[in-house]
Amino acid sequence: MIGLGGLIQVRSMRIKPQSLLPLLLLLAAPALGVVGRGVDLRADVVSVRGESGQLAELCGKVLAQTADELLLVTPDGQMHLLASDQVRQVQIDDRPLRPLTPAELAPRLEAEFGPTFQVLQSRHYLVVYNTERTYAQATATMLERLYAAFTRYYRLRGFTIQRARFPLVAVLFRTRDEFADYAARELEVVDPRINGYYSLETNRLALHQVLPPGRYTRGRLSPENVSTIAHEGVHQLAFNLGFLKRFSDPPLWLVEGMAMFFEVPAGTTGRWGGVGAVNHNRLEQFLSYVQEGRPQDSLRQLIASDDRIRQLDQAVAAYAESWALTYYLVRTQARRYFEYLQHLGKKPYLWQGSPEERVREFEQFFGPIEAVDAELVKYMKAIARQQRKPRSVRDRLLAR
Ligand SMILES: [Zn+2]
Repeated sequence: MIGLGGLIQVRSMRIKPQSLLPLLLLLAAPALGVVGRGVDLRADVVSVRGESGQLAELCGKVLAQTADELLLVTPDGQMHLLASDQVRQVQIDDRPLRPLTPAELAPRLEAEFGPTFQVLQSRHYLVVYNTERTYAQATATMLERLYAAFTRYYRLRGFTIQRARFPLVAVLFRTRDEFADYAARELEVVDPRINGYYSLETNRLALHQVLPPGRYTRGRLSPENVSTIAHEGVHQLAFNLGFLKRFSDPPLWLVEGMAMFFEVPAGTTGRWGGVGAVNHNRLEQFLSYVQEGRPQDSLRQLIASDDRIRQLDQAVAAYAESWALTYYLVRTQARRYFEYLQHLGKKPYLWQGSPEERVREFEQFFGPIEAVDAELVKYMKAIARQQRKPRSVRDRLLAR
């Protein structure tokens, strides 16, 4: 399905022996030292015990620690959420973490993925691929366009865009099976509808080629690819350019709504439709949901918890409603929506809001949910009527 995007968050990760292998490359040996290739990565050191009992050291910066969990970021931008009973020792160093540069990270990615993969560097991205080079280049071009559009959109609305602290990595797989094998390292079940995802843990995009190899000779992506790259790419930008923090529990309707606001593919041309156009798939899905007896507390449930989005049988309607809510708020009360976004971006790491807190915060910014709900349904019906008008009239109506 187009753009049923995945945002992957691992809670209380159990370190598996194989997941330690790439991390070991980053370790200081002995504990605080200089790692190969002359890169000085001295920082906090956390000793952890893996599932099979072996000890290993992770070198990075401790971002937060609770009675149950510890959150560590490593110089490659990966975050590790460790269960407290695995953590043996923590040595805190007062120096700030020095992230890897793209030139330092590229050889590490080559070593991790092996000789069948190559790494392409664009202005803001490292693209690791075993696809045709033309496909990887087309993806890098699309990601750069997205980066430019995303930063321009928010800069014009008064956001301070931070530079990405870590290199932005996208991994492209030639086949769906290779993608699914890679995804299975992070997910228990790989939903067959997902063409890509962004991982809060690795900070990477993982995508696969939708059309068979040989179809990208002109560097043109399929609409499915365009939609997925835009959607997942926005997740990555939101968590890297100073909007939201990973592992700070922002409401999923907001995270997904933000991505869907940018995902719009244009017809079947494989060209990206840009920012904030009406997302016809989501609009239709939302209106069918309304027609088929949308529950009265639908919006309240969406805001109070992430369950509707996470449950596969409810996901299509919940995603559509998240798009509709985002579109409605951005179009009708942009200033408050952006203030709300900034408020969420200030949450500390490992923060978790109760359903009551989420509802209270939403209502602080937008008023009673029931009133928002009534206006939302009215507004989306009006948008649907506008969409049925001839294009010239429609463009005038939407050119706001
Ligand atoms: Zn998503």
